[in-house]
Amino acid sequence: MNTTSSNSNIPAAIQELGQQLYHSHHKYKESALRHRRFRHRDIVPLIEQLQEQSAFEVQVAGHSVQGRSIYLIKAGTGKTKVMLWSQMHGDEPTATMALFDLLHFLNQTDELDAIRKHILEHLTLYIVPMLNPDGAEMYTRRNALGIDMNRDALRLQSPESELLKQLRDQFEPAFGFNLHDQSRYYTAGYTARPATISFLAPAYDHARNINTVRERAMRTIAGMDHVLQQFIPGQVAKFNDEHEPRAFGDNIQKWGTSVILVESGGQHGDPEKQHIRQLNFTAILSGLYLIAEDAYKAFELEGYDRIPENQRHLYDLVLRHVRYIENGRDTMLDIGINRLEVDAPNHLGFYHSSAVEEIGDMSVFHGYEELDASGLTLVPGKVYEQPIDSLDDLTSELGAELLSQGFTTIRVKHLPGVLPDPTSLPLNVTGIASIVNHQLALDEPANFILKDAQDQARYAVLNGFVYDLQGDRPELFHGILH
Ligand SMILES: [Zn+2]
Repeated sequence: MNTTSSNSNIPAAIQELGQQLYHSHHKYKESALRHRRFRHRDIVPLIEQLQEQSAFEVQVAGHSVQGRSIYLIKAGTGKTKVMLWSQMHGDEPTATMALFDLLHFLNQTDELDAIRKHILEHLTLYIVPMLNPDGAEMYTRRNALGIDMNRDALRLQSPESELLKQLRDQFEPAFGFNLHDQSRYYTAGYTARPATISFLAPAYDHARNINTVRERAMRTIAGMDHVLQQFIPGQVAKFNDEHEPRAFGDNIQKWGTSVILVESGGQHGDPEKQHIRQLNFTAILSGLYLIAEDAYKAFELEGYDRIPENQRHLYDLVLRHVRYIENGRDTMLDIGINRLEVDAPNHLGFYHSSAVEEIGDMSVFHGYEELDASGLTLVPGKVYEQPIDSLDDLTSELGAELLSQGFTTIRVKHLPGVLPDPTSLPLNVTGIASIVNHQLALDEPANFILKDAQDQARYAVLNGFVYDLQGDRPELFHGILH
């Protein structure tokens, strides 16, 4: 693509460029970042390596509440300034990984030289990866003051917020990329497809007016969507554009920088979001190219308007048409179950803890995993009352045997002082005296047996995971400690 292209060629050309970026991503992927729970100490050596490269100017731009360095990396010499910041919410790390990949891309020499040269000649990039390193340390949204940075754009009580505002005012970038993660339970509109990437050109007022600043962001997003549709058709959505007066995106838009919000959502089979990282890399670089070329102008606002809105219509598991009898009342239900991530004590790993989040007619909702339970009856999982001595006695064979007999929890006489990693438990575990109730109830854990017409256990639902008792044990399947 070059500036002499007529507008009608730009959509096809940017798709082709997106293909090249997408398929070469592996060459630039920062191999030290492999999952979402990395921390400040993991990115410091990566930034020190960048410091050695002549392509970049690296500086410590400021510090977090707990004194961690927040870095600013400058690249390119162009007249259009673009600022990109990630992870203002500590537990939203996907784009931080993509930014390191993007930096590696900029620093290479290969057959994509024309693309990177164009970006670096036309743009000056100001990149702030991991704006909230204290939150990343604990894998929490908020910073060490307990403040949500994205509600601190006006008061600026957090040093991290103050820094972001100061950098914005210092450089006055034409464009800003505000990089987040969103819930994996969003769908793209009223479909069953997850909103794997969502965009937003935030509104700068309650009336959601569109001025030239916001319009530029909308057109660029239309172009980025056009690129992504090739890889995740129907899985791009728009975040709600209700104006939030305290949020950074909304204010930075108001202050005159065209803000492109990118939210990394969910995708089936990508729990650590490594494919979504690749999509971020592709979308952000495509967006930068469109800006460098002024080619975003080739995309109409209708392209932005057409992107469906996020709907919270997804669950991890939906059981359909299951029979349930309680107090003599015979009902047919759908049940929506989520498997919430609970941080392991060191914040480096996590386990799942289930919750029933919907009961009733779920015909408008969808599951990453669905089970047609027609003809099956749900009964609460039972507690195996005869305690075993220790967790060492709880083998996966014993777990499978007890599940097939309708038990989802076992009592253990001697629980260890340091509790084990729950991901190793083939059944829920509890002590000898606790009271356990696996009745079906909203917001309670999902531990059920689905019985067939012959009253035989057909499926076990343990901690929100489904086990077809006539098949193999699922790969991801574990109980928890009560
Ligand atoms: Zn966020």
